[in-house]
Amino acid sequence: QAKHLGTHGVQLHDPSMTDRRAADAQLGEDLAGAVERGELTVLYQPLVDLTDGRPIGVEALVRWQHPTHGTVSPARFIPIAERNGSISALGLWVLREACAQVVEWGADTYVSVNLSPRQLQEPTLLQDVLAVLAATGLPPARLVLEITESALVDDAAGITMLAAFREHGIRVAIDDFGTGYSSLHYLTRLPVDILKIDRSFVAELNGTPEGAGITEAILRLSHALHLTTVAEGIETTEQATELQLLGCGIGQGYLFAQPLPAGDVLTLLSHPSPPPSSLS
Ligand code: C2E
Ligand code: MG
Ligand code: MG
Ligand code: MG
Repeated sequence: QAKHLGTHGVQLHDPSMTDRRAADAQLGEDLAGAVERGELTVLYQPLVDLTDGRPIGVEALVRWQHPTHGTVSPARFIPIAERNGSISALGLWVLREACAQVVEWGADTYVSVNLSPRQLQEPTLLQDVLAVLAATGLPPARLVLEITESALVDDAAGITMLAAFREHGIRVAIDDFGTGYSSLHYLTRLPVDILKIDRSFVAELNGTPEGAGITEAILRLSHALHLTTVAEGIETTEQATELQLLGCGIGQGYLFAQPLPAGDVLTLLSHPSPPPSSLS
């Protein structure tokens, strides 16, 4: 039997959609007290120099241990937090944790923290970030803020905010680059330092020119704009080798390390494991 479909093929009055909305609302309420109850933690995934596999930085990735649902993925709860407005407090908590952690490690490493589009619209964001740096003692040069490409399209205030970060010595990265449909002309005017190649393009690397097409194009563009390029989602030595040959300097992915608890990262930073053999 035919179902009633909306203009985008979404089923209207689908009971499972109603369930989902109720579940989201409940998760949103639970999230409100999650920090106070100690349910949130930050994991750190190493960013490595692709020439030698040495960790040079980490990306902070939040985790939520829900009392009854177990681990809830950020892909699930961050969008909920964006909708109910709790993302700003949550995001600042992650930033504070991450900055304090990197200072505590004492290693010469930087931390990359994800910002949600909604945080970027908060007029006090710059002040808040600078206050976290002052409180934790992290030098601005050791902080990178990641924002997805799609979040910046048509957000003039957001772009002004990015420029202000950079004036204070904080670097800015465009996350999941290549998936946001921004025009190339537009990109040349963005105040950013780093492009992170989305992992869907890294997954296509298979030693053929077709597989490398988009990655190669992004690397050329990045080079022409004097930006640093990071490849995310590297899972095989073949991908790592190909990226290195294409001129990508920095990588991140399960091949090198999963997102790790803070204690395990310190071990890695002080005793880096030998790089995968094809890279040595
Ligand atoms: P992202 O910023 O693009 O982070 C990279 C995601 O890819 C992480 O998922 C990471 O665990 C995963 N990943 C890393 N290496 C590999 C790999 O080799 N293969 C595959 N398949 N995946 C890999 P995670 O931790 O589940 O986070 C998902 C997204 O949630 C992040 O994507 C980011 O957009 C968002 N997120 C996470 N933490 C925060 C946060 O503190 N604030 C905000 N606003 N967003 C966050
Ligand atoms: Mg990211
Ligand atoms: Mg990413
Ligand atoms: Mg991604």
